Amino acid sequence: MRLTVTDVTKAFGGTRVLRGASLTVEEGDLAAVLGPSGCGKTTLLRIVAGFESLDSGSVAIGEREVAGLPPERRKVGIVPQEAALFPHLSVARNVGFGLPRGSAERVEECLELVGLAGFGDRMPHQISGGQQQRVALARALAPHPGVVLLDEPFNALDRSLRVSVRDEVRAALKRAGATAVLVTHDQEEALSMADTVAVMREGRIVQEGTPASVYAAPCDLGVATFVGEAVVLAATSDHGVASCLLGDLPQRADGVAGKGRVALRPEQFVLRAPGEGVGGLVERVEFFGHDAAITVALEPGTVIRARTRGDVPHRPGDRVGVTVEGPVLFFPE
Ligand code: ATP
Repeated sequence: MRLTVTDVTKAFGGTRVLRGASLTVEEGDLAAVLGPSGCGKTTLLRIVAGFESLDSGSVAIGEREVAGLPPERRKVGIVPQEAALFPHLSVARNVGFGLPRGSAERVEECLELVGLAGFGDRMPHQISGGQQQRVALARALAPHPGVVLLDEPFNALDRSLRVSVRDEVRAALKRAGATAVLVTHDQEEALSMADTVAVMREGRIVQEGTPASVYAAPCDLGVATFVGEAVVLAATSDHGVASCLLGDLPQRADGVAGKGRVALRPEQFVLRAPGEGVGGLVERVEFFGHDAAITVALEPGTVIRARTRGDVPHRPGDRVGVTVEGPVLFFPE
């Protein structure tokens, strides 16, 4: 079901944690709430779940206002940071815990949704951490919730496991047709998994959109540097051209003329022979196989990190020239 959070505020003692947070998740979408530690993500999720009351604002699941309802009447499924399965109950009994008797079929259906058909008789300690997290998702999906809330569900997993479990969780949510909210401070996780990203800062959602649109057109410099990498340089804008250390660069959007800053994405830098563009010294080469990240010092205090193809010939100590490709993001002061 569609989730609509409107202008929610919440203070603990004198500390205002949510300052008018609004969020819309369309039916069947997976939305990531992305923000730094302490910005209020978990508090927002707990308010949607009903574990915490709100001071003002509203939360609607479908057409129904749920702010006054206890958690068990909201039709919300929750996947916590750690699977938190009952250790003495089988996988099937964990999944069926909140269901009426005679729900074995629904339990098996949900295990199938998360790719664990046939695992029902195992005990939690007999399956991996990633599988436990999928059981937690099956348990959340079992009562047909209107919305599924996932609070940093991959935190407890090894990095190597995280990527595959992410894919499996996304696939299971899509198979179930669930509307879901994923809270994370990991931008790669948000950008790669979610249909929409809501960037949260200091108790507010400052921008919502598809991952590609937020990356391409961040609403301010804070979002530009938090969602994706960016090198920020002082610049002056005039008639849609931003002038900075790297030259006169066309802006993505024609804005107010005057002083400000440009945010340059790593894939916009082109490394050339010395003499072309602005000169610099290669400091570091990180090789990832399919691509590489090259750190170049342009002048004391100004360092860029360029993303290039993996087969580039650069070595630390090389002199290079740097140019910028494509329109740039300019933010007035
Ligand atoms: P993290 O990524 O670290 O979990 P977060 O964005 O989820 O952070 P919250 O857990 O929502 O942030 O916390 C936001 C702020 O509210 C923090 O400063 C936290 O200390 C405070 N806070 C949260 N819950 C309570 C509470 N029950 N009583 C007092 N302060 C609280």
